[in-house]
Amino acid sequence: MKEVVRIVLKSGKDQSAKRYHPWIFSGAIKKIYGEPGEGDIVLVFSNKDEFLGAGHYQDSSIAVRILSFRDREIGEAFLTERLGDAVRARRGLGLPDNPLTNAFRLVNAEGDGLPGLIIDLYNGAAVMQFHSIGMHRNRNALINGLKEVLGEKLTSIYDKSTSTLPSRYASAQKNEYLLGGPGDTEIIEHGNKFIIDFERGQKTGFYIDQRENRKLLADYADGKKVLNLFGYTGGFSVYARQGGAKLVHTVDSSAHAIEMADQNMSFNFGEDDRHRGITADAFKYLGAPEEEYDLVILDPPAFAKHHNVLHNALQGYKKLNAKAIGMIRPGGILFTFSCSQAVSRENFRKSVFVASANTGRRVRILHQLSQPADHPVSVYHPEGEYLKGLVLLVD
Ligand code: SAH
Repeated sequence: MKEVVRIVLKSGKDQSAKRYHPWIFSGAIKKIYGEPGEGDIVLVFSNKDEFLGAGHYQDSSIAVRILSFRDREIGEAFLTERLGDAVRARRGLGLPDNPLTNAFRLVNAEGDGLPGLIIDLYNGAAVMQFHSIGMHRNRNALINGLKEVLGEKLTSIYDKSTSTLPSRYASAQKNEYLLGGPGDTEIIEHGNKFIIDFERGQKTGFYIDQRENRKLLADYADGKKVLNLFGYTGGFSVYARQGGAKLVHTVDSSAHAIEMADQNMSFNFGEDDRHRGITADAFKYLGAPEEEYDLVILDPPAFAKHHNVLHNALQGYKKLNAKAIGMIRPGGILFTFSCSQAVSRENFRKSVFVASANTGRRVRILHQLSQPADHPVSVYHPEGEYLKGLVLLVD
């Protein structure tokens, strides 16, 4: 058998691993003893030969993703144990077996001690998204583990990773069913129904991470004219209508998303002229809105995928928020979000502050929002916190 590769860090570069941060950057490495293949398990040591952790190796700036800070074998038993931990954590949140919500994130990568792996569960259909080669190479072990921890509840598994794995590796992979097969997947979330198209949809099919924020929105919607910008398949729109909105407009640049938004509205409320889906650019729509709205949702895609484009991203948030704050009716409510991991909560708030000041409107923060508890963040890995939101009262 191939000898396990050992990686020794430069002196002084072991602090973050000693504080259980799961990423070893290539610049921290002093010497590699052996020739690791991509996705191989490697053992990481300090310059003083102290064991730091075992994880997956990859030829990238994050060279090792640590899975265990104790010296133990990373195989099917280990992975199944972590999957079992993830299920237990969700059980504590009342998620599995919840008659009103049957879609949730089962595995949130580093937040669940499984760097490189996302698993979302849609009414028994698991969608796996691999972000590291090491995790993908363990796909079979993870499937066995999933079957073991979920039992009969698991109806299908779809691997949707060609866009999330490094392209040099992904080019030899395909998105595919590993259990069961295609078919419409219907879910229920806080009593609202949605049709999920995980094959053609974005991410794993749905933005599960906005679940609790959508629920809050319903509380504000009664009697309001609502504009859902970057509305995707109408998540916030359905909740707005359920909360009693008198008019809901969903705007998204994707025609397919708007088609699904219309479908989700009629799925819940039948034919109803209170909703309209509009395929348009959100920035353009804000320049010439069709109505004066009382409640606006701004949930754009991540403007900053990397720290080096942070400045442009912050400008984007300022511009967008200034437009929305400027057009909302006095006494109106704005739900505004950033899902860019590179944009800190403070920076996002500053963008909203500058946007508000530019409009001269009176703006008060009513709620500060985040990602839900099925998207846990390891205290040692603050990068896992990405979703930030503010609910503003705009006079
Ligand atoms: N709020 C949604 C998720 C939004 S994801 C939910 O709860 O489900 C971001 C959406 O923005 C995507 O659907 C994408 O198609 C859309 N989008 C991206 N750029 C856009 C633009 N310039 N104008 C309008 N929509 C855009």
